[in-house]
Parts: sequence; C-alpha cells; structure tokens
Amino acid sequence: MSDIQYLAPTTLDEAVSAYSGAKGSAHILAGGTDLLVQMRSGMVNPGLIVDIKKIEEITSVKETEDGVFVVGASVSGMELANNSNFGKTWPGVLEALNLIGSTQIQGRASLGGNLCNGSPAGDSVPALIAAEALLTVQGPNGRREIPVKEVPVSPGKTSLADNEIAVSFSFPSRPAGSADAYLRMIPRTEMDIAVVGCGVSLTIEENTCTRACVGLGAVAPKVLEVEGAAEALIGSQLDEDTIENAAEACRACCNPIDDKRGTIYYRTKVSGVLLKRAVAIAAKRAKGV
Ligand SMILES: Cc1cc2nc3c(=O)[nH]c(=O)nc-3n(C[C@H](O)[C@H](O)[C@H](O)COP(=O)(O)OP(=O)(O)OC[C@H]3O[C@@H](n4cnc5c(N)ncnc54)[C@H](O)[C@@H]3O)c2cc1C
Repeated sequence: MSDIQYLAPTTLDEAVSAYSGAKGSAHILAGGTDLLVQMRSGMVNPGLIVDIKKIEEITSVKETEDGVFVVGASVSGMELANNSNFGKTWPGVLEALNLIGSTQIQGRASLGGNLCNGSPAGDSVPALIAAEALLTVQGPNGRREIPVKEVPVSPGKTSLADNEIAVSFSFPSRPAGSADAYLRMIPRTEMDIAVVGCGVSLTIEENTCTRACVGLGAVAPKVLEVEGAAEALIGSQLDEDTIENAAEACRACCNPIDDKRGTIYYRTKVSGVLLKRAVAIAAKRAKGV
C-alpha cells in the first residue's frame, strides 16, 4: 500500500475542494465499513482519504416544522435510532439501516455510505427509494438535489460525479395514515448480504391506499423502483388480488444473478413474497394497529 494522505475538514467547502482537487485517486470516508474492507483487500488504493464526519451538516438529523426530516449522509444507524422521532415516522428506513451487519457495524455504517458504495444488495437503498427520499450532493459547481432512485447505476457505480459528495437525505412529509417497512431475505439469520430486499411506503386514507412506492434490491444490477407495484396498490383497498398484482410487478422486473445465495428462480419468487409481507407490515403501521 502506498502513502495515503488523510484529511478531516470541518466544513463542506473544504471537503469538496480537497476531494475535487486531489491529484490521484481520492475516497470519502464515512463509517469506513465498506471502504476499509476494500482497502485491506486491495480493491481500492486511495492516495487521499477525506473523512467527512467532522462536518456538522453531514452528521446531524433535523426535523422541520412541516415534518420533513433531513438526515446527514454520514449519520450512523445507531445515531438515527437514538433520534426520538425519526423511527416513528420512517420505521422502514430505520429498520433497513439497522439490519446492516452487527451492533459494531451499525455504530458506524451510514445511509450515504450504503448508497454510494453502489451495491445492488445495499439494505437501506430500497427503503430510501420507497420513502421517495431526495439526496443533496455538493461538488465544485455547487449543490443539486436528486431522487435517490436515480443514484444507483450498476454494481459499484452511482450517478454522482467523481468530485461530488453526498451531503444529506431529505424525507418528505406525509399525511397521517402513512408508514413504511423493509424486509430482506438472507440465508442466515444475520450478518449476510440480501438475496432480496424490499422496501414499501404507503398512505392509507379512509381505507384506500392513496400513495405507494416500492423499492427492490438484489434482484438486478442496481436497486430498482417498481412503479408497476405502486400503480397496482394505489386506489385499492389492499385486497388479495391487488397485492398479488403488485407482487407480479415485482417478479416481472427481476433480472437477478444466479449464485450460491440464491438462484434466479428463487430470487424472483422471493421478491413477490417479500412485497406481500412488507405491504402487510406497512399497512398495519399506517392504520396504527
Ligand atoms: C461485517 C459487515 C457486515 C455488513 N453487513 C451489511 C448488510 O447486512 N447490509 C448492507 O447493506 N451492507 C452491509 N455491509 C456493508 C457496509 O456496512 C454498508 O454498506 C454501510 O452502509 C457503508 O456505510 P459506511 O458509512 O461505513 O461507508 P464507507 O465505508 O465509509 O463508504 C462506502 C463507500 O461510499 C463512499 N462514500 C461514503 N460516504 C460518502 C458520501 N457522503 N459522499 C460520497 N461518497 C461517499 C466511500 O468513499 C466508499 O466508496 C457490511 C459490512 C461489514 C464489514
């Protein structure tokens, strides 16, 4: 391993300027639970590491008066669990982040790291997509906001430019009767990579589903939004036929790999099963039962 320069700026402008001005390969360091493993295995060899955990905006959680949560990209799962309101509003996002690894990993792992690592099996990403979260990124040309669903591109690749830093996630305010859920299938009980992950967010008003969004992970080269599933759910009373149609939309968009964790057939079938179970959990939460 060659020499590595380590910087831990306290402002975003300094971080962007160091990251975008790096001569060789540079990496952002959040919790380090992917990056350090990749460095140890020789997969990446950064000349510069920019640690962003001393930047207030990237490490804080805020709730606005109108119910929008803004979560810094490097906030860990443990820190988010300690926020008294976030988990009440977005239980699915929180459970997805806190399925990652072990207690030790959850004390470090962040939403920004999970998303920017670009894994099609990243657990929090389907939940972020289902939540219709927006990502704020900053680069040398300023800030922009993008829907999380537009960030994943292919294994290990995102739509962020090489010099852009993920700053925060913004979660929209929703009416009463809204909730989300995330479920994953793994061959073991914990500490494994999702064979399928499914995030569902719903709003139920007067017994009718008026808003829905579904994210599906580990079934394609990138995490997917399943628009067909949402279309099936919206306007329905979440009866059995409707939920079967939504499950079919999930199965239809699967394009998974065949590996030792799960065959193509298995992953495709499980995507429909998880959709049904995640809808049931989100609906129960939305109805407060
Ligand atoms: C034992 C173990 C178990 C694990 N289990 C799971 C699991 O169950 N599910 C799962 O999804 N993952 C799992 N992981 C992977 C990892 O923990 C997660 O992907 C985690 O969310 C990464 O977050 P981090 O903050 O540690 O990211 P880091 O390792 O700091 O960063 C990951 C990548 O994203 C880049 N990056 C980080 N933050 C930013 C930013 N703000 N802007 C731009 N680029 C950025 C980094 O440069 C790096 O390339 C596991 C890892 C380990 C070691």
